Amino acid sequence: MTEAPGLTVPQGTRRHMDYDQLFRTQLDALKSDGNYRVFAELERYRGAYPKARNHGAGADEVTVWCGNDYLGMGQHPEVLAAMHEALDKCGAGAGGTRNISGTTHSHVLLEAELADLHDKEAALLFTSGYVSNWAALGTLGSRLPGCTILSDAFNHASMIEGIRHARCDKRIWAHNDPRDLERKLADLDPDAPKVVAFESVYSMDGDIAPMAEILDVAEQFGAMTYLDEVHAVGLYGPRGGGIAEREGLADRVTLIEGTLGKAFGVVGGYITGSVELVDFIRSFASGFIFTTALPPAVAAGAAASIRTLKGEEGTGLRARQRRQVARLRDALDRAGIPHLDNPSHIVPVMVKDPVKCKMLADILMQDHGIYVQPINYPTVPKGTERLRFTPSPLHDDGDIDALVSALHHLWSQCALARAAA
Ligand code: PMP
Repeated sequence: MTEAPGLTVPQGTRRHMDYDQLFRTQLDALKSDGNYRVFAELERYRGAYPKARNHGAGADEVTVWCGNDYLGMGQHPEVLAAMHEALDKCGAGAGGTRNISGTTHSHVLLEAELADLHDKEAALLFTSGYVSNWAALGTLGSRLPGCTILSDAFNHASMIEGIRHARCDKRIWAHNDPRDLERKLADLDPDAPKVVAFESVYSMDGDIAPMAEILDVAEQFGAMTYLDEVHAVGLYGPRGGGIAEREGLADRVTLIEGTLGKAFGVVGGYITGSVELVDFIRSFASGFIFTTALPPAVAAGAAASIRTLKGEEGTGLRARQRRQVARLRDALDRAGIPHLDNPSHIVPVMVKDPVKCKMLADILMQDHGIYVQPINYPTVPKGTERLRFTPSPLHDDGDIDALVSALHHLWSQCALARAAA
């Protein structure tokens, strides 16, 4: 074999670059700011949520207080039975991308279930909610000629990345402020396509978008609307169709995006909309086309979860979750622990210091068997560090009492300010 000329590296000319040192420098900066993420190593076990075994530092069994399996559907017997059945029948993986042998009957049934949930003509699955936002916004912004995406200032990272990926014109409007949106829309070419992108329930503050007003403004300027209902699907509306369903607005939203990984307890993401819109994304989104489809068992489990939450059992779980959320808020108020007042199921307890936030979470885990992940920058702005509690219908009154009593005790120990009574 002849050697290609010029490709031989002569002895002694290797250049040493310490890449690990470059990585360490940035990691050390994160650590000294108190923003380095360490995760708990949990073992979920059947029927136990919100309890889990802990294989990391701290108590052996913990109560999970920061889960996004908001209604405990990840362990619901009907979801598990549907997954077992599909696993036995269909095997493990989908066997291909959606276009090349990976579309199974389970995927098609799930898409029909999702379209029905949001009262839309069609739905399209993705491997996660993150991918659905990234792929759908990226495709809309890059494929609609002259498109501007108008994005709420607090939109999730997956939407921001999708908009960046689109490389189209973008405008950021002040969070939950339809008047600012109106001003930004008024500046644009009335005949060019526009996408107004926002969320219904914002995951870190738990506030809810003034949806009717946003839709009014978008319609006035002929903009399509892109709504992320990731923290609302399964939880709000008579059938768990989200805030748009609860407020009777689903038919006015052009595209509703959601996840199967939070209240539905499984994994995956989706969009719903008109036949043309969904076909457009299906046909052009690389994040849909060039990746292996979700396993059929996941699709079957998600469909069972959605069906359960559409019905009477879902109504009961949602009501009990609301009761437990209210109970936790009341108990925090009585203990003088400051928390954001919002109309959702998310209870952010404000610590406002990254080091104390992490310290509190560590002590809760070590000494009280309470697991809550500290939420620090860049997930939230500096100075607004918090513990984000998500009560489920499966957290009982004893869990709530234990949590608030531990916080009450630690609040003074960590010299944190109390809320005005
Ligand atoms: N949108 C929002 C608002 C989110 O908070 C998240 C996840 N935290 C996603 C999308 C992504 O969803 P998934 O976890 O299914 O990727």
